[in-house]
Amino acid sequence: MKTIPPTRQLPEGYRLTYSLYLKADKSAVLWMQVATIPAFILSAWFFAWLVLEFRADAIRDIGRFNNLALLLGLVAVNFVVLVVHELAHGLFIWFFTRHRPIYGWHWFYAYAGAPDWYFDKLRYIVIALAPLVMISAIGIVLILVSPAPVVLFLLGITIFNATGAVGDLWLVLKSLFEPEDVLIRDTGDGFEFYQRG
Ligand SMILES: [Zn+2]
Repeated sequence: MKTIPPTRQLPEGYRLTYSLYLKADKSAVLWMQVATIPAFILSAWFFAWLVLEFRADAIRDIGRFNNLALLLGLVAVNFVVLVVHELAHGLFIWFFTRHRPIYGWHWFYAYAGAPDWYFDKLRYIVIALAPLVMISAIGIVLILVSPAPVVLFLLGITIFNATGAVGDLWLVLKSLFEPEDVLIRDTGDGFEFYQRG
């Protein structure tokens, strides 16, 4: 795969070929929300299978918990996961640019972005997939080794994070179909694809 170092100056000859601005595009946000349903089913199926297969002991304890406390705990923990998810995007934006990313919050979604930078396909895919891959991998290891009460929280965290990555996955899929030398600008809640010619 051809790599182009991140740049703040759009190279000569590139033109905008696709853009998506979540704040302005209500139907894109709606589609993203619809897409979270199959994403939730798939990730719930996988992580629940993992727990049932390897940590059935954690499920046996479920009746001992106060349901409301469990639910409130999960909401609180997932709020932290949302922040960690965006920080994982930001970590790789920083790694590639050595500049601080921007973070934001807009009603249904949180975001990290780098509005001043144009990324090549490979780096953009790494930035987009970082939270899904990192949090899922750490979550799987922790599910296997943590004490039973923690496993339920980890199950909630991994499912929530993977479900929330549906927008990231869509953009990765889209960028895979772009030409090798595509440049991508991620403003956090807006995406622009530039092609040569
Ligand atoms: Zn994300």
